[in-house]
Amino acid sequence: MRLLVATGNPGKLKEIRRLLANNPVEVVGLTEYPDLPAVVEDGDTFAANARKKATEIAAASGCLTLADDSGLVVDALGGAPGVISARYSGLDGDDEANNRKLMEELHEVPDDRRQAAFHCVMALAEPGGRCRTFEGRIAGRLLREPRGEGGFGYDPYFLVPEYGKTTAELPLDIKNRISHRGHALRKVLPVLQEYDSADEKN
Ligand code: IMP
Repeated sequence: MRLLVATGNPGKLKEIRRLLANNPVEVVGLTEYPDLPAVVEDGDTFAANARKKATEIAAASGCLTLADDSGLVVDALGGAPGVISARYSGLDGDDEANNRKLMEELHEVPDDRRQAAFHCVMALAEPGGRCRTFEGRIAGRLLREPRGEGGFGYDPYFLVPEYGKTTAELPLDIKNRISHRGHALRKVLPVLQEYDSADEKN
């Protein structure tokens, strides 16, 4: 069974591919569908953006589509950067600039008030319009200096207290086991298996 993962973010695609590795799905990325229209992510919530990406891409491609909308929610910043995590600095997808802005905003915030969480909503949409969403979250704390070379986005600053490591220091398999994306995707798996069984019967 073919599953189109609607993301242009190579970090997300790598994690999702690994999470789906032992499942009966052929994961394809947007690069295999170069003519699809760009989706404007103008929703107020992760769920609204995930639904929008998944349903628009599924309708345009004719393929069962999985979209992830995710981001960092920082208590001391009233929930920012939230849905604009990818473009917090004003430059879309510029991780370095986004992290610089985050550190500036948190400069005065003491260590015991630097709690944050990554949130993820996965939306699974059929070309006919049916769409279901699945959520995941991981709690942590933001450091002042980056640590680790793995991951992407805000990972070098995001400390997972139980491991004493940032999500950029954790091996991918461990990040996937505990992360917002891993939690959400594990809820999607049984649904993908239902589609696969239905495919086999047809
Ligand atoms: P989206 O493509 O609109 O869902 O934006 C997601 C943004 O949230 C990314 O560009 C990162 O800045 C941030 N983000 C989401 N998941 C992660 C993660 O696992 N690690 C680090 N940053 C993340």
